Amino acid sequence: MAITVSMTGRRALVTGGSGGIGSAVVRTLLEAGARVASIDLPGAPPPPEGAIAVPADLSDSASAAGAVAAAAAALDGGLDTLVQCAGITRDALHWKMPEEDWRAVLDVNLTAAFLVLRASTPFLRAAGTGAVVLLSSINGQRGKFGQANYAASKAGLEALAKSAARELGRFDVRVNAVAPGFIPTTMTERVPEELRRAAVGESVFRRAGRPEDVANAVLYLVSDLSTHVTGQVLRVDGGQLIA
Ligand code: NAD
Repeated sequence: MAITVSMTGRRALVTGGSGGIGSAVVRTLLEAGARVASIDLPGAPPPPEGAIAVPADLSDSASAAGAVAAAAAALDGGLDTLVQCAGITRDALHWKMPEEDWRAVLDVNLTAAFLVLRASTPFLRAAGTGAVVLLSSINGQRGKFGQANYAASKAGLEALAKSAARELGRFDVRVNAVAPGFIPTTMTERVPEELRRAAVGESVFRRAGRPEDVANAVLYLVSDLSTHVTGQVLRVDGGQLIA
C-alpha cells in the first residue's frame, strides 16, 4: 500500500535552513507540498530553491522576533509548522572553556530556540493546529566529552520541547524533538577522523546517518502521520544510543 505524506497547504518555518540538516528538512517539506521560509545567518548560503530566505542572527532577541514576523508575512501572514535546526558547537573541556563559548552555544542552541518558539506561538495558535520540532542531539542525553556547553543546550532544548508540548496541546499544537547521532555536515567536518570513526563504530549499522534520515523523521513529526504524538524525543542515530 502506498502512503503519500502531504504537507500541501501547510506553511513551514525552518531555522538553519541553509545548513546540512536544515536544507534537507527544507527540501523534504517542499517536496511534500509545503510552503517554506528559512531563517539563517546573513551571508549563509541560500536555502534550497523554492524556499523563502529570511536572513537574521537568531541569538539576538529583537532580530529573532523580527525574522519570525517577516517569515510569517512572506508565508501569507501565518505559519503552522516550525522546525528549529539552527545550531553551533564550540568544543572544549569544561575547565578550559571560555565563558563566551559557553554563552554563545547556549544563546544559539537554546535561547534562540525559545525566542523563535515564543514569537511563532501566536501564529501557531491562530492556525488552529500545528507542529513544532526542535533539533536536539543524542549528546544532550548522554553527555559528551568536550561538549559540556552543547550537551547542556540540547538537554535544555528537550525540556523546552516537553514543556511547550504541555502548554500548547490545548491549541492542537504538537511539540517534539529529534535527536540525531553523527551526521556528516559542516558542523561535524572539523571532528577529528578518529572521533568520526568512533561515532560510526557506535552505530549498529556501522555507518553515519544522512541529513535525509533526519529530515524524514522530522516530516513524520510535523505531518498528520503523528497527530497523537507530542512531547517526545525521537532518536535518529542508527542505534548509537539505545537506552
Ligand atoms: P550546520 O552547521 O550544517 O547547520 C547549522 C545552521 O545553523 C547553519 O546554516 C548556520 O548558519 C545556522 N546558524 C548558526 N547560528 C545561527 C544564528 N545565530 N542564527 C541563525 N542561524 C544560525 O549543522 P547541522 O549538522 O545541519 O545541524 C543542524 C542541527 O542538528 C543543529 O541544531 C545541530 O546541533 C543538530 N545536530 C547535528 C548533528 C550532526 O552530527 N550534524 C547531530 C546531532 C544534532
